[in-house]
Amino acid sequence: MFPMNLRSSPKPTGNALLARLGLGAADVDVVPAVRGHVLWEPDVQLETAVFPLSGMVSLVVSTEDGRSAEVATVGREGAAGVTPGLRPVPSFARAVVQIPGDMAHLDLARLRELAQSNDALGEVLDHWREVLLRQVMQGAACNALHETPERAARWIAMTRDRTDGDDLPLTQEFLAEMLGVNRPTVTLAAQDLAARGLIEYRRGTIRILDRDGLEGAACDCLRAGRAAYRQLLGA
Ligand SMILES: [Zn+2]
Repeated sequence: MFPMNLRSSPKPTGNALLARLGLGAADVDVVPAVRGHVLWEPDVQLETAVFPLSGMVSLVVSTEDGRSAEVATVGREGAAGVTPGLRPVPSFARAVVQIPGDMAHLDLARLRELAQSNDALGEVLDHWREVLLRQVMQGAACNALHETPERAARWIAMTRDRTDGDDLPLTQEFLAEMLGVNRPTVTLAAQDLAARGLIEYRRGTIRILDRDGLEGAACDCLRAGRAAYRQLLGA
């Protein structure tokens, strides 16, 4: 399944976590979401978990000076809004759709009911929350310790894991926001990756030319994230 084996996944869409929970189309509401769609703002009561069937959701934290940075990425391997105990709590990060796709919505109350009647299901959701926590922890270390080009390579490779093609609809401005760096810094990083023949950048699209090379250029946080998923949710 995801994300380590996505490279050979025969299934272009579908959510690996939903599949692990044994839930199907009848259990969820599928809503298509365009790029930039805000699933929720900070400080709203979370009552629905969102499982991307395709596309990608970013959890973004803004600071008081108006800047923001992505703190976690959720694609078809997981879900956003899986709260502790599957109970409603106020949101902390903004959840915004970065790569458009179909989003499966499932009420937390329903999910809680399912988890209460099935320990294994509750455990899968606990493990997913731990995977997400590890992603955030890895990201904190990555932001503090690693340089922008390797972080950019990691981010693009992570995005590629969650999508189906080598063309990613990402502007440099957006990439800068995701990495929490200014635009000139991200431009230099993109130029560096392009000069090495790993990506090509044009008008709001990043095309991956050499996926293996890109992964090689990424810091080891890319592999750590994949390993966390594998360890807790299996391949
Ligand atoms: Zn890193």
